[in-house]
Amino acid sequence: MKILDGKLAAEAIKEELKLQVAERVAEGKKVPHLAAILVGNNGASATYVAAKVKACEQTGFISTLVRLESSVTQHKLLETIQSLNEDPDVDGILVQLPLPAHISEQDVIDAIDPQKDVDGFHPVNVGKMVQGAESFVPATPLGIMLLLSFYKIDTSGLDAVVIGRSNIVGRPMSVLLSANTQPGNCTVTICHSKTKALAEHCKKADLIVAALGQPLFLTADMVKEGAIVIDVGITRVEDATKKNGFKLLGDVDYAGVAPKCSWITPVPGGVGPMTIAALMKNTFLACSRK
Ligand code: NDP
Repeated sequence: MKILDGKLAAEAIKEELKLQVAERVAEGKKVPHLAAILVGNNGASATYVAAKVKACEQTGFISTLVRLESSVTQHKLLETIQSLNEDPDVDGILVQLPLPAHISEQDVIDAIDPQKDVDGFHPVNVGKMVQGAESFVPATPLGIMLLLSFYKIDTSGLDAVVIGRSNIVGRPMSVLLSANTQPGNCTVTICHSKTKALAEHCKKADLIVAALGQPLFLTADMVKEGAIVIDVGITRVEDATKKNGFKLLGDVDYAGVAPKCSWITPVPGGVGPMTIAALMKNTFLACSRK
């Protein structure tokens, strides 16, 4: 069993971006600028945004963090997005999800200029991604593709199972894995909460992406010998022995599954850092396209 080390791969990507930013500076070109909007005080969201801002600092990007109260109106949030859309210095905009219940996530996603939509959630970018055209690809599935590339894993012809069909992870992941690319060229089955005999699908799979948000869901009896397993799940579970009061659990029962795998991602240190590295790549792309 070998580990797909997302921390290592993400550091390599960020180092490369740092050099590319330095080159841009030397050529008198603008530095990439990411604007993040955080609504409310959700602890996990604040942690993710802080990690994105830190990654900007590491790579030499400019970052702007806009914090809004959880009571902010949708109108005010859309106005904030519009002003960032119109700001020529801002290259990428992300709105950290989830949003409070009184705000429509779809309206917010639709309001972001597709040229600055570095999360790749805007329908224009989703459509282009499905067609295989150049677009911003959602950061988590893109990060997984970059991780497979980093470890030079040949996925061509593999039977893949993606568990979860969200617009953020599962669905775009299934599109990318089935694309005529390397990595890609998999035969993909997408499973969800209504799937019958999910374990049977998994048992046949050469590659499994678990993105359902159910801690330790994928167990050893569901995985065939030699499979590649990618664990996207991150769930905070109370743990009094930890300083911050919780531990992070993935969707894979790592202890049981890992010995059967050819490759596996750990949690933490797998998909999480790759998501951030992919966001940085998208932001650099947004800047360099100008
Ligand atoms: P969603 O809740 O939006 O989607 C979960 C999906 O899993 C749904 O399609 C749902 O099916 C399916 N599902 C839920 N329970 C089961 C089950 N028992 N059996 C089969 N399918 C099931 O989650 P996200 O896609 O946003 O995130 C998934 C996980 O990934 C979460 O733990 C999240 O925290 C993590 N995540 C991690 C990131 C990272 O950087 N590492 C980034 C983004 C997310 P249905 O559609 O039928 O309801």
